[in-house]
Amino acid sequence: MQVLVVNAGSSSLKSQLIETDGKVASMKCLAEKVGTDNAFMSVAFAPDFQKTMYNIAGLSVVQCLQKLLEVLGDDPESPISGIDQIDAIGNRIVAGGEYFTKATLIDDEARANLTKCEELAPLHNPTADACIDMMRKLMPNTPQVAVFDTAFHATMPPKAYMYPLPWSYYEDYHIRRYGAHGTSHRYAAQQAANLLGRPLRDLGLITCHLGNGGSITAVNHGKSIDTTMGFTPLEGLMMGTRSGSIDPAIVTYIMRREGKTFDEMDEILNKKSGILGISGLGSDMRDVLKAANNGNERAELAIDMYVYKVQKAIGSYYAIMRRTDAVVMTAGIGENSAELRERIFAGLAHMGMILDKDRNQVEGAIGVNRVISIDDSPIKICVVTTDEEMRIARETDNLVSQQ
Ligand code: AMP
Repeated sequence: MQVLVVNAGSSSLKSQLIETDGKVASMKCLAEKVGTDNAFMSVAFAPDFQKTMYNIAGLSVVQCLQKLLEVLGDDPESPISGIDQIDAIGNRIVAGGEYFTKATLIDDEARANLTKCEELAPLHNPTADACIDMMRKLMPNTPQVAVFDTAFHATMPPKAYMYPLPWSYYEDYHIRRYGAHGTSHRYAAQQAANLLGRPLRDLGLITCHLGNGGSITAVNHGKSIDTTMGFTPLEGLMMGTRSGSIDPAIVTYIMRREGKTFDEMDEILNKKSGILGISGLGSDMRDVLKAANNGNERAELAIDMYVYKVQKAIGSYYAIMRRTDAVVMTAGIGENSAELRERIFAGLAHMGMILDKDRNQVEGAIGVNRVISIDDSPIKICVVTTDEEMRIARETDNLVSQQ
């Protein structure tokens, strides 16, 4: 089945065309900083994946996707000769609330429920929904599936997902913890099980998705039992531009002191905080690491705080799991930064997570799933490459094939 995977963010678009029988991607597209003057979209086709760049200055994410569909239909290098050859579309949706606990075929009822989830992830969901609407118009006969970042966490018990707030907020507004990055945590857990040669149902894992956004999940017997993101993807770890968990009283304090509006406060916490807020330099971990290594004190503090919060989250999940067999590192930072992994695990050896410094080095190992702990480490440390697009394509195929 030819599945077009669409992963639309607030200012980015990632997409792949995946042939699910052979589990191979034949097109990869990436657009970042969408909406700015110097935005570009790269489109690359198999077999050599040479990138062609398209100027997308001033276009919205939906318009970028439209442009990608034109390229897919018209480019002689394209693996398909028209978009009618796309069998199904798999959409990554950040928040599914309590409406969606598993991947869902998008019919009118599901589409209406998607709108209700928009306020749970205001940076991501509305854009994804607009993309779905555009494609439903353009390709009305092509089935679309929504694959939710929250679905994997539907197994969390109430003690993990409830907030200690007045009960009515849960009943009236569904305020509870939903988690996010579920597709990535589920995939990372399965990859780690494959790597360890043991069934997932027998394992206790702590999966760490450390990218621009970041979250850590306790995965017991293949099920999420707790995760660091909450009602929205703002809770939990310190992230590229997101504050993660802070004392909630700070929010009302700043609003009173500076007369900030709700939208301004959202912007401060989601886009101006985290690594960016502390370093004052940017949100890209590579730049901040470089600055710290050149003696920039705020960059060093940002990294110190980041590492500390990751260590605390891993430690707290170790405490609630009956057993921990492995800690799994994935996403941009988790997969690629030997330096940060070394700093994180330097503080966790006493819990039995003992890194092998040579195995931890990246050279020649990017994209290779591997164990990076010493042979005798009581708890293994794994690095796995996240492949959210493949996972979304497979879930889409499963669902559409059942119809
Ligand atoms: P993601 O959101 O998964 O694409 O991850 C993006 C983050 O990974 C950014 O903060 C990047 O700076 C970071 N990243 C990617 N490669 C490296 C690397 N080699 N060392 C440190 N951070 C990296």
